[in-house]
Amino acid sequence: TDIATPTVFETVESEVRSYCRAWPVVFERAAGSRLYDEQGRPYLDFFAGAGSLNYGHNNPALKRALLDYLADDGITHGLDMSTTAKRDFLETFHSTVLEPRALPYKVMFPGPTGTNAVEAALKLARKVTGRQTIVSFTNAFHGMSLGSLAVTGNAAKRAGAGVPLNHAIRMPFDDYLDGRLPDFLWFERLLEDAGSGLDHPAAVIVETVQGEGGVNVARAEWLRGLAELCRRHDMLLIVDDVQMGCGRTGDFFSFEEAGITPDIVTLSKSIGGYGLPMALCLFRPELDVWQPGEHNGTFRGNNPAFVTATAALDTYWRDGALRERTLSRADRVERALLDLCADDGRGGLSVRGRGLVWGLEFTDGERADAVCRRAFETGLLVETSGPRGEVVKLLPPLTATDDELDEGLGILARSVRHTA
Ligand code: PMP
Repeated sequence: TDIATPTVFETVESEVRSYCRAWPVVFERAAGSRLYDEQGRPYLDFFAGAGSLNYGHNNPALKRALLDYLADDGITHGLDMSTTAKRDFLETFHSTVLEPRALPYKVMFPGPTGTNAVEAALKLARKVTGRQTIVSFTNAFHGMSLGSLAVTGNAAKRAGAGVPLNHAIRMPFDDYLDGRLPDFLWFERLLEDAGSGLDHPAAVIVETVQGEGGVNVARAEWLRGLAELCRRHDMLLIVDDVQMGCGRTGDFFSFEEAGITPDIVTLSKSIGGYGLPMALCLFRPELDVWQPGEHNGTFRGNNPAFVTATAALDTYWRDGALRERTLSRADRVERALLDLCADDGRGGLSVRGRGLVWGLEFTDGERADAVCRRAFETGLLVETSGPRGEVVKLLPPLTATDDELDEGLGILARSVRHTA
C-alpha cells in the first residue's frame, strides 16, 4: 500500500485496503472529549472527526433523542419523503439559525457529505449564471470528487485524479502575498480587461478559515472586500462552512463576524451533531432554479441525523451560551500556544486561529509529525494540516471542559518540548 502507517488489523491485512490514520491502535468507545482504545486507554480527542464532533462524542442530549427515536420505530431511510424528523429539523433550523440572523436561505439536502454540498453549490452557481468558471483560493480544500477537487488548491490531491483545471482559477488567499499587492485590485483589472482572456466567473468559493490548508484565517475586512468584489462583478459568493460552521469559530456561521451574507453556503460535518452523515446547501431563494430531481441521491436526508441535528440546535443554539463560551476560550488557547512558542528552543513556531480552531505552525512537516506522534503516545489526538503538513491543527469539541482544554494543551506543550 502507499500508506506507511502501522498495521492495526494484522489478521486481515492482505484483504483490506484501509487507510488508518497514524494512530496504531484500535479504538472502541468514545464519550465527550475522549476516545478509548480496546485496551481501555483514554485519548483526548482534539481531532474531533476533522470538525464533525463539535458537541463531543455520544453527547448525552443527542444520544437520548436518537435512542428515543429508534425506540419508537422512527424512520431511518425515507428517500425524498416528508417525514416528521425532517420537518422538525427544518423548523428548528429556521427558528434557531436562520430567523434570528435574518438569513433568507432556502435549504437543500445535497447528499450525505460536505463534498456533496460543494458539488451542489458549484452546479447551482453555473446553472444560475450560465457561466462556467469558478474562482477558488490558494490552499483551499473543498472535497475529493472531480468538481470539488478542481477548486481545491492542493496539487498532490488533484494529481492522482488527473483533474484538469478547466473552468477553475485560483486567487491568493488572504496574506498569501504578505500584503505586497492590494487584495483584489489585480483581479478586478483582469476582469475589466477584455484582452486578458479571463472568463467572467460564475462564482467565488471560499473558506473563512482554511482548515485542511493549514488554519489560514481570513481577516473580516478581506472577506468584506471579497463580498464587495463579487457584488460589483456579478459573481456569486459561496462560503464553504463545512469545517468552520456550526460554531467552530464562535458564531454558528463562520462568516457572521465579517457581517457578510453569502449567496450560497455549504454545511456538513457537525450539522448532524452526532457524527452522522448530513450536509446542507443553503442559497438565496431567487437562486432556486433546480428542477425536481435534478440533483438527487439515495442518501440525501438522513432521518437519524435530522433527529440528532435538531437536538443539537435545541440544546446549543436556542441561546448564545455556546458562542460566548467558545469565544471566551479562544484567548485561553491562544495564550497557551503563544507561551509554548516562546518556550521553544528551536524557534520558528507561529500560532493562528479563531474560536476553537487553532494551528501551530512548524518550519517543517517532519517536526509537526513528530509532535503529533508524541502527543498520541501521551494521550492526545491531533493531526497535521497545511500544504507541507507543517501545521498541527487543534479542533477540540466545543463542549470540552476547561480542564480538558488545559490537559490537551499541556500534552501538546510537552510533545513540542520533547521534539525540540
Ligand atoms: N469543504 C471543507 C472546507 C472541508 O474541510 C471538507 C472536509 N475536510 C470538505 C469540504 C469535504 O467534506 P467531506 O469530507 O464530508 O466530503
